[in-house]
Amino acid sequence: MAAKKIIKDEKILTQACEDCTAEDAQLAQDLIDTVAATEDAACIAANQIGVTKRAFCYLDDDDQPHVMFNPVMKRALAPFKAVEECFSVDEPHKVTRFQRMMVEYDELVDGELVPRKREFRDWTAQIIQHGIDHTNGKLV
Ligand SMILES: [Zn+2]
Repeated sequence: MAAKKIIKDEKILTQACEDCTAEDAQLAQDLIDTVAATEDAACIAANQIGVTKRAFCYLDDDDQPHVMFNPVMKRALAPFKAVEECFSVDEPHKVTRFQRMMVEYDELVDGELVPRKREFRDWTAQIIQHGIDHTNGKLV
């Protein structure tokens, strides 16, 4: 296990993040391990473990971990207001999320980045939007 400590350092968390490359397999594993080791974690971004790169790990409806590299939200439908908690922020905060959205991202498969495009909805869409905000250096 290479679970990392989750940081709250705003200076790091609001920094611009670099793109991930095919060399970031260890980062993907660290994110998966950290989500697994953190109680109630549904989504943890690379900058939350001190690595300012555009990646996060989220759990799907079956609690399976997935890592997204370089995610970009492409289409978003059905906005709603939500109150979210974050391991890096002390107070819950209000945000606008979308019930359905399309994401373009890279997945690391056998040492290579494979571009993906997928639609998500409901809870999974919401935690992915939270993760994308982190990769954009957006905290609240
Ligand atoms: Zn968060």
